[in-house]
Amino acid sequence: MIDQTDIDTDEFYNREDLTLTEYQNAASSTAIYPASVQILYPTLGLAGEAGEVANKVKKIVRDGKLDRDGIAGELGDCLWYIAAVCRDLGLKMSDVAADNLAKLAKRKENNTLQGNGDNR
Ligand SMILES: [Mg+2]
Repeated sequence: MIDQTDIDTDEFYNREDLTLTEYQNAASSTAIYPASVQILYPTLGLAGEAGEVANKVKKIVRDGKLDRDGIAGELGDCLWYIAAVCRDLGLKMSDVAADNLAKLAKRKENNTLQGNGDNR
């Protein structure tokens, strides 16, 4: 179980075996915003951070340089907001991840990885 001491150490951030549940629980400790804006606030934040990822990728095209660490940081910001949206909706990130993998496996099995529509 992760506690604040773990979170405050660099070692925590370098763990290779961090589970989505551990991440979600730790991220929740910093997800501080009014209850009146639950779901909305982190969803808008997620959209903003996704834009930051896209902007850094755009700069690869513009400048010909890859800011891998910068993109990783923005992906982490996305992950934090995903954790917050999940929390606000009462979802476990591990369930969301597992369901997504199952959906994609079924699409692969059905040879429908490419195409349109959520239910294929
Ligand atoms: Mg960011």
